[in-house]
Amino acid sequence: MEKIDWANLSFGYIPTDYNVRCYYRNGAWGEVEVSSSETINLHMAATSLHYGQEAFEGLKAFRCPDGRVRIFRMKDNAERLQSTCRGILMPELPTDLFCEMTEKVVMLNERFIPPYESGAALYIRPLLIGTGAQVGVHPADEYLFVIFVSPVGPYFKGGFSTNKYVIIRDYDRAAPLGTGCYKVGGNYAASLRANRIAHEAGYSCEFYLDAKEKKYIDECGAANFFGIKDNTYITPKSTSILPSITNRSLQQLALDMGMKVECRQIPEEELSTFEEAGACGTAAVISPIARIDDPEKNLSYVFSKDGKPGPLSTRLYQRLRDIQYGIEPDTHGWVTVL
Ligand SMILES: *Cc1c(COP(=O)(O)O)cnc(C)c1O
Repeated sequence: MEKIDWANLSFGYIPTDYNVRCYYRNGAWGEVEVSSSETINLHMAATSLHYGQEAFEGLKAFRCPDGRVRIFRMKDNAERLQSTCRGILMPELPTDLFCEMTEKVVMLNERFIPPYESGAALYIRPLLIGTGAQVGVHPADEYLFVIFVSPVGPYFKGGFSTNKYVIIRDYDRAAPLGTGCYKVGGNYAASLRANRIAHEAGYSCEFYLDAKEKKYIDECGAANFFGIKDNTYITPKSTSILPSITNRSLQQLALDMGMKVECRQIPEEELSTFEEAGACGTAAVISPIARIDDPEKNLSYVFSKDGKPGPLSTRLYQRLRDIQYGIEPDTHGWVTVL
Protein backbone atom coordinates (compact mmCIF):
# COMPACT_ATOMS: atom_id res chain seq x y z
CA MET A 1 0.00 0.00 0.00
CA GLU A 2 1.25 3.50 -0.74
CA LYS A 3 2.08 5.52 2.35
CA ILE A 4 -0.78 7.51 3.85
CA ASP A 5 -0.05 11.10 4.87
CA TRP A 6 -1.89 10.71 8.20
CA ALA A 7 -1.77 14.34 9.34
CA ASN A 8 -3.17 15.65 6.04
CA LEU A 9 -6.12 13.29 5.67
CA SER A 10 -9.51 14.93 5.23
CA PHE A 11 -12.91 13.57 6.25
CA GLY A 12 -13.24 11.47 3.13
CA TYR A 13 -13.47 7.88 1.95
CA ILE A 14 -10.22 5.95 1.82
CA PRO A 15 -10.44 2.30 0.81
CA THR A 16 -9.29 -0.19 3.45
CA ASP A 17 -8.75 -3.96 3.32
CA TYR A 18 -12.03 -5.33 4.71
CA ASN A 19 -15.59 -4.62 5.69
CA VAL A 20 -17.91 -6.86 7.70
CA ARG A 21 -21.47 -7.80 6.81
CA CYS A 22 -24.45 -9.56 8.30
CA TYR A 23 -27.75 -10.34 6.57
CA TYR A 24 -31.18 -10.51 8.14
CA ARG A 25 -33.33 -13.14 6.42
CA ASN A 26 -36.32 -15.23 7.45
CA GLY A 27 -36.63 -13.30 10.69
CA ALA A 28 -33.07 -13.82 11.94
CA TRP A 29 -29.57 -12.35 11.72
CA GLY A 30 -27.10 -14.67 9.96
CA GLU A 31 -23.36 -15.30 10.25
CA VAL A 32 -20.85 -12.44 10.20
CA GLU A 33 -19.11 -12.28 6.82
CA VAL A 34 -15.81 -10.59 6.01
CA SER A 35 -15.61 -8.93 2.61
CA SER A 36 -12.94 -7.14 0.63
CA SER A 37 -15.42 -5.81 -1.92
CA GLU A 38 -16.33 -2.15 -1.79
CA THR A 39 -19.69 -2.67 -3.47
CA ILE A 40 -22.98 -4.28 -2.52
CA ASN A 41 -25.31 -6.11 -4.84
CA LEU A 42 -28.77 -4.68 -4.31
CA HIS A 43 -32.23 -5.42 -5.68
CA MET A 44 -33.55 -2.43 -7.63
CA ALA A 45 -36.79 -2.52 -5.62
CA ALA A 46 -35.00 -2.54 -2.23
CA THR A 47 -36.84 -0.41 0.35
CA SER A 48 -33.66 1.50 1.22
CA LEU A 49 -33.60 2.93 -2.31
CA HIS A 50 -37.27 3.87 -2.58
CA TYR A 51 -38.62 4.47 0.88
CA GLY A 52 -35.60 5.50 2.91
CA GLN A 53 -35.27 2.40 5.08
CA GLU A 54 -31.70 3.30 5.89
CA ALA A 55 -29.90 3.98 9.15
CA PHE A 56 -26.28 4.69 9.93
CA GLU A 57 -23.96 5.32 12.83
CA GLY A 58 -20.59 6.99 13.28
CA LEU A 59 -17.90 6.32 15.87
CA LYS A 60 -14.13 6.30 16.12
CA ALA A 61 -11.19 4.11 17.11
CA PHE A 62 -8.00 5.75 18.35
CA ARG A 63 -4.39 4.64 18.46
CA CYS A 64 -3.29 5.76 21.92
CA PRO A 65 0.02 6.87 23.46
CA ASP A 66 0.24 3.50 25.30
CA GLY A 67 0.14 1.74 21.92
CA ARG A 68 -3.33 0.26 22.45
CA VAL A 69 -6.41 0.89 20.33
CA ARG A 70 -9.52 2.32 21.98
CA ILE A 71 -13.08 2.55 20.66
CA PHE A 72 -15.29 5.23 22.19
CA ARG A 73 -18.82 4.41 23.49
CA MET A 74 -19.51 1.60 21.03
CA LYS A 75 -22.42 0.21 23.10
CA ASP A 76 -24.16 3.57 23.01
CA ASN A 77 -23.98 3.59 19.23
CA ALA A 78 -25.47 0.08 19.18
CA GLU A 79 -28.35 1.28 21.35
CA ARG A 80 -28.95 4.38 19.26
CA LEU A 81 -29.09 2.23 16.12
CA GLN A 82 -31.72 0.07 17.85
CA SER A 83 -33.75 3.19 18.58
CA THR A 84 -33.50 4.17 14.90
CA CYS A 85 -34.60 0.65 13.91
CA ARG A 86 -37.71 0.97 16.04
CA GLY A 87 -38.33 4.39 14.47
CA ILE A 88 -38.39 3.18 10.86
CA LEU A 89 -39.50 -0.43 11.37
CA MET A 90 -36.24 -2.28 10.78
CA PRO A 91 -35.21 -5.33 12.83
CA GLU A 92 -33.03 -4.36 15.81
CA LEU A 93 -29.43 -5.47 15.64
CA PRO A 94 -28.37 -6.94 19.01
CA THR A 95 -25.73 -4.94 20.93
CA ASP A 96 -23.38 -7.94 21.18
CA LEU A 97 -23.44 -8.44 17.42
CA PHE A 98 -22.83 -4.73 16.81
CA CYS A 99 -19.84 -4.74 19.19
CA GLU A 100 -18.40 -8.01 17.83
CA MET A 101 -18.54 -6.72 14.26
CA THR A 102 -17.13 -3.31 15.20
CA GLU A 103 -14.13 -4.84 16.99
CA LYS A 104 -13.61 -7.25 14.13
CA VAL A 105 -13.57 -4.62 11.38
CA VAL A 106 -11.17 -2.44 13.39
CA MET A 107 -8.77 -5.32 14.02
CA LEU A 108 -8.91 -6.48 10.38
CA ASN A 109 -7.92 -2.98 9.26
CA GLU A 110 -5.38 -2.34 11.98
CA ARG A 111 -2.82 -0.97 9.55
CA PHE A 112 -5.21 1.87 8.72
CA ILE A 113 -5.48 3.15 12.30
CA PRO A 114 -3.53 6.41 12.24
CA PRO A 115 -0.64 6.91 14.68
CA TYR A 116 -1.38 8.90 17.85
CA GLU A 117 0.89 11.81 16.96
CA SER A 118 -1.01 12.55 13.72
CA GLY A 119 -4.22 13.52 15.51
CA ALA A 120 -6.08 11.40 12.93
CA ALA A 121 -8.39 8.49 13.82
CA LEU A 122 -10.17 5.53 12.30
CA TYR A 123 -13.76 6.46 11.53
CA ILE A 124 -16.20 3.55 11.81
CA ARG A 125 -19.36 3.67 9.68
CA PRO A 126 -22.09 1.10 10.43
CA LEU A 127 -24.92 1.05 7.89
CA LEU A 128 -28.23 -0.83 7.98
CA ILE A 129 -30.41 -0.97 4.88
CA GLY A 130 -33.63 -2.60 3.75
CA THR A 131 -32.65 -4.94 0.91
CA GLY A 132 -35.93 -6.77 0.39
CA ALA A 133 -38.00 -5.77 -2.65
CA GLN A 134 -41.27 -3.88 -2.17
CA VAL A 135 -43.27 -1.76 -4.56
CA GLY A 136 -45.92 -0.68 -2.07
CA VAL A 137 -44.83 1.28 1.00
CA HIS A 138 -44.03 -1.47 3.48
CA PRO A 139 -40.99 -2.39 5.55
CA ALA A 140 -38.66 -4.88 3.86
CA ASP A 141 -38.40 -8.50 4.97
CA GLU A 142 -34.62 -8.61 4.35
CA TYR A 143 -31.83 -6.34 5.56
CA LEU A 144 -28.09 -5.90 5.31
CA PHE A 145 -25.92 -4.55 8.11
CA VAL A 146 -22.43 -3.57 6.98
CA ILE A 147 -19.57 -1.77 8.73
CA PHE A 148 -16.71 -0.15 6.88
CA VAL A 149 -13.91 2.00 8.25
CA SER A 150 -11.87 4.86 6.86
CA PRO A 151 -8.96 6.80 8.35
CA VAL A 152 -9.97 10.45 8.83
CA GLY A 153 -7.77 13.44 9.52
CA PRO A 154 -7.78 15.68 12.58
CA TYR A 155 -10.80 17.98 12.49
CA PHE A 156 -8.76 20.99 13.55
CA LYS A 157 -5.77 21.20 11.25
CA GLY A 158 -4.49 24.49 12.64
CA GLY A 159 -5.36 23.58 16.28
CA PHE A 160 -8.63 23.86 18.23
CA SER A 161 -10.40 26.91 16.74
CA THR A 162 -13.79 28.61 16.22
CA ASN A 163 -16.25 28.73 13.30
CA LYS A 164 -19.19 30.89 12.29
CA TYR A 165 -22.75 29.68 11.70
CA VAL A 166 -25.87 31.14 10.10
CA ILE A 167 -29.51 30.76 11.12
CA ILE A 168 -31.61 29.57 8.17
CA ARG A 169 -35.41 29.66 8.38
CA ASP A 170 -36.34 28.64 4.84
CA TYR A 171 -35.57 24.95 5.33
CA ASP A 172 -36.12 22.40 8.09
CA ARG A 173 -34.04 19.25 8.47
CA ALA A 174 -36.72 17.46 10.47
CA ALA A 175 -40.27 17.90 11.78
CA PRO A 176 -41.08 17.94 15.51
CA LEU A 177 -42.75 14.52 15.28
CA GLY A 178 -40.68 13.32 12.31
CA THR A 179 -37.42 11.40 12.09
CA GLY A 180 -35.01 14.04 13.45
CA CYS A 181 -34.27 11.92 16.52
CA TYR A 182 -33.16 8.98 14.33
CA LYS A 183 -29.89 8.72 12.43
CA VAL A 184 -31.42 8.22 8.99
CA GLY A 185 -30.21 9.43 5.60
CA GLY A 186 -33.46 11.26 4.86
CA ASN A 187 -32.63 13.95 7.42
CA TYR A 188 -29.37 14.57 5.60
CA ALA A 189 -31.05 14.80 2.20
CA ALA A 190 -33.36 17.40 3.76
CA SER A 191 -30.37 19.41 4.99
CA LEU A 192 -28.32 19.55 1.76
CA ARG A 193 -29.82 22.75 0.37
CA ALA A 194 -29.57 24.74 3.59
CA ASN A 195 -26.03 23.47 4.01
CA ARG A 196 -25.06 24.63 0.52
CA ILE A 197 -26.58 28.07 1.09
CA ALA A 198 -24.62 28.43 4.34
CA HIS A 199 -21.36 27.38 2.69
CA GLU A 200 -21.86 29.70 -0.28
CA ALA A 201 -22.38 32.57 2.15
CA GLY A 202 -19.04 31.77 3.78
CA TYR A 203 -20.31 29.99 6.90
CA SER A 204 -19.05 26.71 8.25
CA CYS A 205 -22.58 25.37 8.70
CA GLU A 206 -26.31 26.12 8.81
CA PHE A 207 -28.09 26.58 12.11
CA TYR A 208 -31.68 25.37 12.61
CA LEU A 209 -34.44 26.74 14.81
CA ASP A 210 -37.34 24.49 15.83
CA ALA A 211 -39.49 23.75 12.78
CA LYS A 212 -42.84 24.62 14.36
CA GLU A 213 -42.34 28.04 15.95
CA LYS A 214 -38.92 29.08 14.65
CA LYS A 215 -38.31 30.27 18.18
CA TYR A 216 -36.00 27.78 19.85
CA ILE A 217 -32.52 26.47 19.04
CA ASP A 218 -32.50 23.02 17.45
CA GLU A 219 -29.24 21.77 15.84
CA CYS A 220 -26.21 23.18 14.05
CA GLY A 221 -26.06 21.28 10.79
CA ALA A 222 -25.29 17.70 11.77
CA ALA A 223 -24.12 18.50 15.28
CA ASN A 224 -25.81 19.26 18.61
CA PHE A 225 -25.60 22.73 20.14
CA PHE A 226 -24.55 23.77 23.64
CA GLY A 227 -24.09 27.14 25.30
CA ILE A 228 -22.24 27.95 28.51
CA LYS A 229 -23.00 30.71 31.02
CA ASP A 230 -22.75 31.09 34.81
CA ASN A 231 -20.78 27.85 35.03
CA THR A 232 -23.75 26.02 33.43
CA TYR A 233 -23.77 23.82 30.33
CA ILE A 234 -27.07 24.34 28.50
CA THR A 235 -28.24 22.21 25.59
CA PRO A 236 -31.59 22.13 23.72
CA LYS A 237 -34.39 19.74 24.58
CA SER A 238 -36.24 19.02 21.35
CA THR A 239 -38.00 16.08 19.72
CA SER A 240 -36.33 16.80 16.37
CA ILE A 241 -32.65 16.68 17.32
CA LEU A 242 -30.44 13.61 17.14
CA PRO A 243 -29.34 12.50 20.62
CA SER A 244 -25.58 13.03 20.28
CA ILE A 245 -23.38 10.68 22.28
CA THR A 246 -20.69 13.36 22.37
CA ASN A 247 -23.20 15.80 23.87
CA ARG A 248 -24.18 13.25 26.51
CA SER A 249 -20.50 12.70 27.33
CA LEU A 250 -19.85 16.45 27.62
CA GLN A 251 -22.82 16.84 29.98
CA GLN A 252 -21.32 14.17 32.24
CA LEU A 253 -17.88 15.78 32.13
CA ALA A 254 -19.40 19.20 32.87
CA LEU A 255 -21.00 17.71 36.01
CA ASP A 256 -17.67 16.07 36.91
CA MET A 257 -16.02 19.50 36.61
CA GLY A 258 -18.53 20.99 39.07
CA MET A 259 -20.65 22.74 36.43
CA LYS A 260 -24.43 22.63 36.29
CA VAL A 261 -26.19 21.05 33.32
CA GLU A 262 -29.53 22.10 31.86
CA CYS A 263 -31.35 20.33 29.04
CA ARG A 264 -34.25 22.57 28.05
CA GLN A 265 -35.70 24.77 25.32
CA ILE A 266 -33.37 27.65 24.41
CA PRO A 267 -35.10 30.69 22.87
CA GLU A 268 -33.05 32.35 20.15
CA GLU A 269 -32.71 35.59 22.17
CA GLU A 270 -30.93 33.68 24.91
CA LEU A 271 -27.96 33.24 22.56
CA SER A 272 -26.94 36.81 23.44
CA THR A 273 -26.40 35.75 27.07
CA PHE A 274 -24.00 32.83 26.49
CA GLU A 275 -20.33 33.28 27.32
CA GLU A 276 -19.32 30.33 25.13
CA ALA A 277 -21.06 28.15 22.55
CA GLY A 278 -20.18 25.08 20.56
CA ALA A 279 -21.35 22.40 18.16
CA CYS A 280 -20.61 18.83 19.24
CA GLY A 281 -20.38 15.44 17.57
CA THR A 282 -18.02 12.55 16.86
CA ALA A 283 -16.21 14.33 14.00
CA ALA A 284 -14.84 17.27 16.01
CA VAL A 285 -15.85 16.45 19.62
CA ILE A 286 -16.42 20.21 20.03
CA SER A 287 -16.41 22.77 17.24
CA PRO A 288 -16.43 26.04 19.18
CA ILE A 289 -18.64 28.75 17.70
CA ALA A 290 -17.20 32.22 17.05
CA ARG A 291 -20.58 33.69 16.18
CA ILE A 292 -24.06 32.89 14.92
CA ASP A 293 -25.56 35.34 12.41
CA ASP A 294 -29.28 35.85 11.89
CA PRO A 295 -29.33 37.80 8.61
CA GLU A 296 -33.15 38.00 8.44
CA LYS A 297 -33.25 39.80 11.78
CA ASN A 298 -29.96 41.56 11.13
CA LEU A 299 -28.53 40.12 14.35
CA SER A 300 -25.21 38.57 15.23
CA TYR A 301 -24.51 36.63 18.41
CA VAL A 302 -20.81 36.72 19.19
CA PHE A 303 -19.11 34.16 21.47
CA SER A 304 -15.48 34.74 20.60
CA LYS A 305 -14.02 38.01 19.44
CA ASP A 306 -10.46 36.82 18.93
CA GLY A 307 -11.33 33.50 17.28
CA LYS A 308 -10.14 31.55 20.32
CA PRO A 309 -12.36 28.93 22.01
CA GLY A 310 -13.59 29.75 25.52
CA PRO A 311 -11.89 28.27 28.62
CA LEU A 312 -14.65 25.83 29.63
CA SER A 313 -15.15 24.52 26.08
CA THR A 314 -11.41 23.99 25.89
CA ARG A 315 -11.33 22.08 29.18
CA LEU A 316 -14.29 19.89 28.17
CA TYR A 317 -12.69 19.17 24.81
CA GLN A 318 -9.36 18.29 26.38
CA ARG A 319 -10.91 16.00 28.98
CA LEU A 320 -12.95 14.07 26.45
CA ARG A 321 -9.94 13.67 24.15
CA ASP A 322 -7.80 12.51 27.07
CA ILE A 323 -10.35 9.81 27.93
CA GLN A 324 -10.54 8.69 24.28
CA TYR A 325 -6.74 8.40 24.19
CA GLY A 326 -6.46 6.59 27.53
CA ILE A 327 -4.52 9.50 29.07
CA GLU A 328 -7.21 10.12 31.71
CA PRO A 329 -8.86 7.21 33.55
CA ASP A 330 -12.12 6.03 31.99
CA THR A 331 -14.27 6.38 35.12
CA HIS A 332 -17.58 6.14 33.23
CA GLY A 333 -16.79 2.92 31.32
CA TRP A 334 -16.96 4.61 27.91
CA VAL A 335 -13.94 3.03 26.30
CA THR A 336 -13.29 -0.43 24.82
CA VAL A 337 -9.58 -1.31 24.80
CA LEU A 338 -8.65 -3.77 22.05
C1 LIG B 1 -24.51 11.90 14.30
C2 LIG B 1 -25.20 13.21 14.55
C3 LIG B 1 -24.84 14.05 15.63
C4 LIG B 1 -23.70 13.76 16.55
O1 LIG B 1 -23.85 12.60 17.31
P1 LIG B 1 -22.57 11.92 17.99
O2 LIG B 1 -23.10 10.67 18.56
O3 LIG B 1 -22.07 12.86 19.02
O4 LIG B 1 -21.57 11.71 16.90
C5 LIG B 1 -25.57 15.21 15.83
N1 LIG B 1 -26.58 15.57 15.00
C6 LIG B 1 -26.94 14.80 13.93
C7 LIG B 1 -28.03 15.24 13.06
C8 LIG B 1 -26.25 13.60 13.69
O5 LIG B 1 -26.60 12.86 12.63
